[in-house]
Amino acid sequence: MQLVDFISETVTKAALIFGIFSYDCKRPSIIKMPLPPQGTLSHTKIVFLDCDGVVSPLSGKLFDPTRMALLKKIIDATGAKIVLSTSWRATDFGRNEVGKQLVLNSLPMFIDITPDFHGRSRSQEILDWLQRHEEQLDVVNFVALDDINLPSVAPDRVFFARHAIVTNGSSGLTEDDATKAIRLLQDDNNYRASLSTSQ
Ligand SMILES: [Mg+2]
Repeated sequence: MQLVDFISETVTKAALIFGIFSYDCKRPSIIKMPLPPQGTLSHTKIVFLDCDGVVSPLSGKLFDPTRMALLKKIIDATGAKIVLSTSWRATDFGRNEVGKQLVLNSLPMFIDITPDFHGRSRSQEILDWLQRHEEQLDVVNFVALDDINLPSVAPDRVFFARHAIVTNGSSGLTEDDATKAIRLLQDDNNYRASLSTSQ
């Protein structure tokens, strides 16, 4: 890693940590995009995006261009919308930084963030978001990209496993992960259909 990259990443990480500890819930978010009104989206697919260990391999660069290109491959192939499930969503700085990196890598801006249920699993935060938005946005399918094994802590493990890619945190998103994510977002793995078959 070049010195300038090292300094840049260290400053970014330090700012993120500072942002987390100085986070004020009452402070309005800098990126505050209203969700599309009901009826404007149909057959919506969602990618719930974790960043660290997915597009930022733990052994590599933050928002590594190769991993960002693989995320773009998923989005381009499926038309999915991005919702942030990463801890970067917790601060203005984090949301802005992720938004900036999406734009820099020719990706669409995220449309929302998942709620923060302190102490409960990320899979439950994702399921809650889906429950609250599936009608408004006509959500038909989703995939969660995360280096945490979300299915293992989901209320319905079988269901969640059909909608999750668990990345290797050290290497981040791989070509195989991207191919699998695209397959999971296909209509034969429809979210509502798989929900009904898992009950
Ligand atoms: Mg992670």
